[in-house]
Amino acid sequence: MLTLPLWIFPFFHFHPIFLLVSLFLYFLPAYLARHKSNFTAIFLLNLLTGWTFIGWIAALIWAVSSEPQRQVAAPPQPAAGGGLFCTTCGKPCVAGARFCNSCGAAQPATQR
Ligand SMILES: [Zn+2]
Repeated sequence: MLTLPLWIFPFFHFHPIFLLVSLFLYFLPAYLARHKSNFTAIFLLNLLTGWTFIGWIAALIWAVSSEPQRQVAAPPQPAAGGGLFCTTCGKPCVAGARFCNSCGAAQPATQR
């Protein structure tokens, strides 16, 4: 356990751990952007304008918002090659499925 004497409290801001924490907080935007393609730009903005509160906020927002690559979820593929449609709701169904994916209605037996 690390116990601090009372006289150190006026100098508490110079404590190594406090310095490390404040350094980490200062470069938090750059840390969050470490895997991004525009890391250098965010890091420079963080480094140069971070001491102004506005610059730090801007770097943080930039680090959080911009993405290196968009991972757009592929829309679910309807009936691959089957070309079957539900007899009840008309939406495409998987070939050979006994029940509709969309409405759950029972489908007539499909020939194979
Ligand atoms: Zn249906």
